[in-house]
Amino acid sequence: MLFIMNKKAIVLLSGGLDSATTLYYALNEGYSVEALVFDYGQKHKREIRCAQALARVAGVPAFKVKIALPWRGSSLLDPGIKVPDKGVRKNTIPSTYVPARNIIFVSFAASCAEAVGARTVFIGANAVDYSGYPDCRPEFFSAFQKALDAGLKAGVEHRGIRICTPLLKLSKAGIVRLGTRLGVPFEKTWSCYNGEGVPCGVCDSCRLRAGGFKEAGVRDPLVKN
Ligand code: ZN
Repeated sequence: MLFIMNKKAIVLLSGGLDSATTLYYALNEGYSVEALVFDYGQKHKREIRCAQALARVAGVPAFKVKIALPWRGSSLLDPGIKVPDKGVRKNTIPSTYVPARNIIFVSFAASCAEAVGARTVFIGANAVDYSGYPDCRPEFFSAFQKALDAGLKAGVEHRGIRICTPLLKLSKAGIVRLGTRLGVPFEKTWSCYNGEGVPCGVCDSCRLRAGGFKEAGVRDPLVKN
């Protein structure tokens, strides 16, 4: 019997370095990809435009999903709370944490996947050089996988949807190296929590990105020297 593997996947695309690398990883693995881009009320919209541009360049359709989190609860959402610029202390969860963000995103992606018949959801979460968000850790994804297996029609019919996290255990430098190898257009990505024109260089996301490029020995096209 001829067995044709379902290679349709949903990729969560935020416009940052990690999700862009994940998109190119999925394409390189031969998946037919549809991207989900969230407008969840983040203060800075450049990342949304970057996500859409990345999808265009990669030749994949992108669905923009607009959701409202009117209760905010994060310095990325609340104009009254400044994004930290002093780096993040170990073992603390910074104010940039968005309550239940990955739970929400992966839930939407699973719903989309089930509706369009995709079997894989890719997310560029990373638990090495990251900000300590609990929903970026392996224990979250293995628990959520169980929830999808139990809660989706596809799950109980044993055609489950798999959450794929190819960057989870890579360092930021490892992600930059992988992205370089896959031809990710880094100039079209955006990681900064603050700026619109040029990256601020002091937010946690800028610091992690800069460290990754430096350690990998690759020039970040967004940073002018
Ligand atoms: Zn920044």
